[in-house]
Amino acid sequence: MTSKTTVKTLLILGASGDLTGRLLLPGLAGLIATGRAPGLRLVGAGSDPWTPEQWQERVHGAFAAASKTADANGRNALAAVAGSTEYHQVDVTTDGPLADLLARLEGPIAIYFALPPHISQKACEVLRREQMPAGTRLVMEKPFGSGSESARELNQTLATLVPEDHIHRMDHFLGKATVLNILGLRFANRFLEPVWNRDHIEKVEIVFDEDLALEGRARYYDGAGALRDMIQSHLLHIMAFIAIDAPASINERDLRDAVATVLRASSIKAPYRDSTRRARYTAGTLGERTVPDYTAEEGVDPSRNTETLAEVRVDIDNWRWEGVPFLLRSGKALGRRRKEAVITFRPVPHLPTGFSGVDSPNQLRIGFGPDTLQLDVDVNGPGDIFALDRASLVAELYATDMLPYGEVLEGVLTGDPLLSVRGDTAEDCWRIIEPVLRAWERDTVPLEEYDAGGAGPADWPTAVVG
Ligand code: NDP
Repeated sequence: MTSKTTVKTLLILGASGDLTGRLLLPGLAGLIATGRAPGLRLVGAGSDPWTPEQWQERVHGAFAAASKTADANGRNALAAVAGSTEYHQVDVTTDGPLADLLARLEGPIAIYFALPPHISQKACEVLRREQMPAGTRLVMEKPFGSGSESARELNQTLATLVPEDHIHRMDHFLGKATVLNILGLRFANRFLEPVWNRDHIEKVEIVFDEDLALEGRARYYDGAGALRDMIQSHLLHIMAFIAIDAPASINERDLRDAVATVLRASSIKAPYRDSTRRARYTAGTLGERTVPDYTAEEGVDPSRNTETLAEVRVDIDNWRWEGVPFLLRSGKALGRRRKEAVITFRPVPHLPTGFSGVDSPNQLRIGFGPDTLQLDVDVNGPGDIFALDRASLVAELYATDMLPYGEVLEGVLTGDPLLSVRGDTAEDCWRIIEPVLRAWERDTVPLEEYDAGGAGPADWPTAVVG
């Protein structure tokens, strides 16, 4: 079980990087502003020859939004952390400098690897030859390895450095309030459980369609694509939360055991022409903006055949879910932002004669921004009272204004890996999608096209009709 020691020093390797500025520091600011990181010392390191003032300026800038909405205590705490933060120029791939830095920091320390994946791997190799301060926690970013083999190797390296419960593999979706709400919805309500299985559920769709194109991220995205970027970890974890059996408790052992059990039973079955689809956007318009063909975007190598829209059918081979398709889809440059899980129930076994109109299946929709819950039911409509009509019970969910990075970082600081990905699960997520990646590389599944700003190919199972 977890040993919960509060981290005194957060060391960010890759202090000048995009992730640090755009997501990590603002997420951390939310924690500090609400008194959830008392006494924390922040240290930045990177290969840039920055002065301490340059780094402090970056931190102040990233804390500004949280500072505006914070109370006086929060503002003071943010100013204290930003005013005292240090910067060290360190090449993390060479023996010596990183260990020297660690030796000077007050422990326990959390080391956040906000580095390109291959540099993180080298830094871990360097740390293997050094003495790690007791209680050190390691925070690894996505992608965790580039396949199940490299994830396994990385896990083996990490295991030589610190115990598993001191390793935090980030998937910031696990810090999203609505994703966590799936657990409350499922396990704090009695009425769902009896129908939450293959006897009553026909299919589950998990869709993350973005109305943004590349937005200058070609360097990363063109090497990844929609399947690796979104489905490989984020959507598989949402699927797992929808599919798990009730854990005995919401702690890092029981919840992560339940997730691991479901993912171990999950696979995408061949032939992949039937179970997967992939497509790439062509020129179009997104709102007011003209979007070029994906292959004409700066930094894209067309010969990579990178997909910008992917859909896979995952099967979970266990008693609860046998035969129920879990359709996971994500894409860029679509006309409508659609982020939701839709649980479609089977039709009623018999509709009494006398009703008119079309009966539609019940659907439960969990919206991930805006955060909503919607239950679609058939009822007697107005006019001819036995003519069926659709009614939706809609609830806007409580959503925190904490960035998901804040929630997962809080686990790092307090020593609770509940909201981070366990080593075996990280490998399993790759194991599930790897055969598809290989089939796509061999071109056994056609790369389709869709207009930027459109709805995507109309004949895909997840396409919205009408
Ligand atoms: P960037 O390329 O923007 O930043 C990488 C950082 O690493 C820079 O500060 C760079 O410093 C530093 N660095 C590189 N080599 C060394 C070295 N040898 N020693 C010390 N520092 C070094 O990458 P991102 O911030 O975008 O990504 C970081 C990680 O986060 C990656 O694993 C990525 O996959 C992950 N991630 C990123 C997201 C994002 O939105 N950016 C989202 C989710 C995950 P310098 O510039 O001086 O070389």
